[in-house]
Amino acid sequence: MELLRSPAAMRDWSDGRRMLGERIGLVPTMGYLHAGHLSLVRVARDRGCAAVVASIFVNPAQFGPGEDFGKYPRDEERDLAMLAEGGTSAVYMPGVGDMYPDGYQTYVEVTGVSQGLCGAARPGHFRGVATVVAKLFLAARPHVAVFGEKDYQQLAVIRAMTRDLDFGVEIAGAPIVREADGLAMSSRNAYLQGDDRTAARCLSRGLSRAEERFAGGERDAETLVAAARKEVEAEPRASLDYAEGRDPRTLSPLSGRVGAITILLAAKVGPARLIDNRTLENAGKSHSQGGTRAC
Ligand code: AMP
Repeated sequence: MELLRSPAAMRDWSDGRRMLGERIGLVPTMGYLHAGHLSLVRVARDRGCAAVVASIFVNPAQFGPGEDFGKYPRDEERDLAMLAEGGTSAVYMPGVGDMYPDGYQTYVEVTGVSQGLCGAARPGHFRGVATVVAKLFLAARPHVAVFGEKDYQQLAVIRAMTRDLDFGVEIAGAPIVREADGLAMSSRNAYLQGDDRTAARCLSRGLSRAEERFAGGERDAETLVAAARKEVEAEPRASLDYAEGRDPRTLSPLSGRVGAITILLAAKVGPARLIDNRTLENAGKSHSQGGTRAC
């Protein structure tokens, strides 16, 4: 597994792989890896990528003032061991100074889908995400890039940017990997101790309540969202940021009777801000953002 520490090294590696005729898969991460991240590496391989590069970069541009940039968990040694074990060909680990040298002044802004949800709660967050992913695309020049549905709005933002800027990269969405008790895996789960860890289950429990109502025939958007919201609001250690029902593809707000809906939740539990979502749709139909689409 090759370690690449600068954009130039990343570009050289990518050029070499392209010269060999290999398909390149990119898996962007902020490190402190878990099974959810490794599932993305497998998706890249399943999409026919002989060369898979994972990036590890805690991107300061996507953290707001007072957010957890300084204390975001890091463990480079363990991450590299996991990626090697998971069959990754290379790891791109640029420093902050490589990505944002003095005088840096260029940002990518996706408008529509960046608004609302986490975009409202975290001003500037998706501008930082779009900027760093654009830079990763230009350095790694992947054929396929894989993102988790865990960050559902982020996936929609990346799809829009890739399409609008003609990157010519296939974006693959990967399903959410969960702990045994339903909690969506996240590097930020490391912040959860004791009762907070137990309380964090309220998000996935809320989504399951909504799913049960949907399976029982309920199709009213507000009622489905209310079923999810209720579980989070009933948990004293959780403070709800938002509970919303959106169109699975466009992320437009929904109301009234729906055929398919993505319910998105965000809540603070102890020191951690957690997000989760689930797409409810009639059996046999797939409206979520999973799978690969050329953008
Ligand atoms: P992060 O390191 O949190 O920035 O996440 C890097 C990538 O892994 C993003 O595309 C996330 O959506 C994805 N990811 C994070 N957690 C999960 C999970 N539990 N299941 C699937 N993908 C995930």
